[in-house]
Amino acid sequence: MQSLLELRDISKKYNQQSVLQHVSFNVNAGEVFGLLGESGSGKSTLLRIAAGLIDADEGEVWLDNQKLRLASDQLIPGHPDIKIVHQDYNLSAPLTVRENISYALRYYEKAYRDERVDELIQLCHLETVVNHPAKQLSGGEKQRTAIARALAEEARILLLDEPFAHLDLLNRRRLTQTIRELAEQTDTACIFVTHDATDALSLSHQMGVLREGQLIQTGTPEAIYQQPANLYVAEITGEVNVLEPDFFLHHFGPNFLLLNGQVVVRPEAFIIHLQPTEKAIKAVVKRVVFEGSRYLIYLEIAQQLLKTYHRESLPLETAVFVELLS
Ligand code: ADP
Ligand code: MG
Repeated sequence: MQSLLELRDISKKYNQQSVLQHVSFNVNAGEVFGLLGESGSGKSTLLRIAAGLIDADEGEVWLDNQKLRLASDQLIPGHPDIKIVHQDYNLSAPLTVRENISYALRYYEKAYRDERVDELIQLCHLETVVNHPAKQLSGGEKQRTAIARALAEEARILLLDEPFAHLDLLNRRRLTQTIRELAEQTDTACIFVTHDATDALSLSHQMGVLREGQLIQTGTPEAIYQQPANLYVAEITGEVNVLEPDFFLHHFGPNFLLLNGQVVVRPEAFIIHLQPTEKAIKAVVKRVVFEGSRYLIYLEIAQQLLKTYHRESLPLETAVFVELLS
């Protein structure tokens, strides 16, 4: 498949300080690309470069096999096919949802505009609040309105800066669903940046991990989660056990992922039995954390702590039996 948007070897410095180093990735039409990174890792800068709002020091942005012009060469930076939704939405507070979206289409014929706005309202699930002023909306509704407005002019690329930062769990889930549907149904390529691993893993078709301006791994969420390139990627994408190779080998055998000299293994790779079994080894429950759908259990084996999950709570200091799933 031909990529719609390509970032090629992007580097950027601010005041001699390197913010992005040789970042390259592609996004296809109809796909969501999630960029996961800590605060200050360069996410917003990269999005602004992708949008053509600021120039990279080195590297190029290509849209549909055409090199984007430099922001500094244009009267109004940006590209008509690329829309960016900033973290603070920029909605007009006294205007209604419908008016905010309509505004983006003010130069179009009224009949077309009304039809298009109805379509966007449906697409972004805003039916119940169309006539509410923006200032009365919840965070999730504001975010969806900002996205609808960005899409009004049939953008081919949608860039979202921390779209979930101010949302509760319920609104997060709704918006995640909306963004996926949107990309797939309208063939839009979407890049979103986040510091939240769960959002990146659940929403992206492809994702990348940005650390101090370097893209250290790209791939499907499953590949990144299951085969992290290093300890940093393993830890930023979820709960891990980091164990001594000798300890692991002795208790669980020779099949392990070694990163930076340590065995890295996800908690769900283990299962707890209450009775002894052939393959399970004895462990003692040291700590129990309720996580809603499951409990995170800290077990002690030969003075080392091992994290795993269990459906039910377990009393502290009880002996259980833990097995490495193959
Ligand atoms: P993120 O969005 O991941 O938090 P940013 O891209 O906003 O990261 O910032 C990356 C680094 O670049 C930070 O250290 C930030 O202070 C710096 N930076 C961002 N924009 C500017 C700017 N306009 N001038 C100087 N430094 C900047
Ligand atoms: Mg940012």
